[in-house]
Amino acid sequence: MTDTIASDVLVDWIDRFGGAVTEQRDWLTELDSAIGDADHGANMARGMTAVAERLRAGAPATADDLLKTVGMTLVSSVGGASGPLYGTFFLRMAASAGPVTELDADGLAAALRAGFDGVVARGKAEAGDKTMYDAMAPAVDALDAAVAAAQDLPTAVRAAADAAAAGRDATEPLVARKGRASYLGERSAGHLDPGAASAAILFDTLAAAIADRS
Ligand code: ADP
Ligand code: MG
Repeated sequence: MTDTIASDVLVDWIDRFGGAVTEQRDWLTELDSAIGDADHGANMARGMTAVAERLRAGAPATADDLLKTVGMTLVSSVGGASGPLYGTFFLRMAASAGPVTELDADGLAAALRAGFDGVVARGKAEAGDKTMYDAMAPAVDALDAAVAAAQDLPTAVRAAADAAAAGRDATEPLVARKGRASYLGERSAGHLDPGAASAAILFDTLAAAIADRS
């Protein structure tokens, strides 16, 4: 039988992501204070709080309407670079998922890949630029590989989350070539990228939501 995740698992993911960036807001801000303008935690917490408020009255039933609501809310509520980037991620995910109430492993992997492609199209970052790209790219690559190897969905998404965390950690020695941190040049080395840190949280909360689904 093909394993699928229903829309309520996506809602749980969004909820967990919002909770986690709010809990880790000070850490994300601390990372951004080292190489940016100390607002990444506030940006993510504000955006995801706005998303939670939008969804409180009732989440849309289909994956595309749900993810589109998340993306549009992030674009309109977050002023920093991360708002349009995460907003695009969710909007492209929505378009890829389509009007369905459940996603199988292929559908989920394709939607996350589409979201990542949207971030690349919007921000033009490449591997090693020290951005959220460096956590997202290994995550979607690991997910595709795990799905191609017919691993079960919880295992595949956990592999993606682990790859995102490794990608986040690998940003530490890098010199930033995109975003505000690039203004620091060589002085941006020696710190984790805040957007890579929030992107690792994005994949970690997805893995947790899928592992704990009832
Ligand atoms: P701002 O830089 O406007 O203050 P945030 O602090 O919320 O916005 O987000 C900063 C993060 O955004 C960076 O750590 C980086 O991961 C990500 N970022 C910035 N520019 C780009 C880009 N062009 N492509 C991908 N990610 C980017
Ligand atoms: Mg910032």
